[in-house]
Amino acid sequence: MSLQENIQRIRREIDAAAIAAGRRGEEITLVAATKVQSSDTIRAAIAAGITVCGENRVQEFNAHWADGAYEGAKVHFIGHLQKNKVKYLVGKVSLIESVDSVELLEVIARRAQALGVVQDILVEVNIGGETSKSGVAPEDAAELIRRADAMEGVRPRGLMTIPPASGHFLDKKRFFSEMQQLFVDIRGKTYDNRSGIDCLSMGMSGDFAEAIAFGATQVRIGTALFGARPYARANG
Ligand SMILES: *Cc1c(COP(=O)(O)O)cnc(C)c1O
Repeated sequence: MSLQENIQRIRREIDAAAIAAGRRGEEITLVAATKVQSSDTIRAAIAAGITVCGENRVQEFNAHWADGAYEGAKVHFIGHLQKNKVKYLVGKVSLIESVDSVELLEVIARRAQALGVVQDILVEVNIGGETSKSGVAPEDAAELIRRADAMEGVRPRGLMTIPPASGHFLDKKRFFSEMQQLFVDIRGKTYDNRSGIDCLSMGMSGDFAEAIAFGATQVRIGTALFGARPYARANG
């Protein structure tokens, strides 16, 4: 299947999953996970209707940005972010989805203030408690959102998660359900925030329909759009 056909098919599946959950398709943003893709592939995806690209690595983002590959779309940063690379992203990406410490938050806020912009962020939650994964513990997410809400230069928009890849599908549902509960709790707590907490980013190629059933507002999809990534370059 062509890239365009894949995009249309996945969009239809997202819309169907939304309707099955009593929601509307327009409530759900398809983020194309473009890691290891070329600038030409990114341009083709945008020409075929992709409106948001998700990038994992600052180096790849920089190269595509320099190429002008993202023209016509927004970019979300979805990978692990080191503090010394924040300067490459702030003011360019519309959302940093992977904030997992106060220190990182402070660096983002300082950079945004220096540029005179407000950077939207999500707090990444390590819902499976995996030692190999970044993200805060579920019980620490509300506090990090509260800290972000009190800072100039950043605006918290919600939560992101990557649940454990292996395991039974019932475990996956439990993780999505826990994320949904956490999201609802945090929205209730931060009713006075400047922006509104309105993003729950979860669901990938293999499980986006389930994520949508549990309230995801953004799904990040790579393989189902672009095909399998070459192993040697995939690295996540
Ligand atoms: C690669 C990646 C995705 C997409 O994964 P697929 O299984 O290829 O759809 C989603 N989120 C993050 C953070 C990723 O790194």
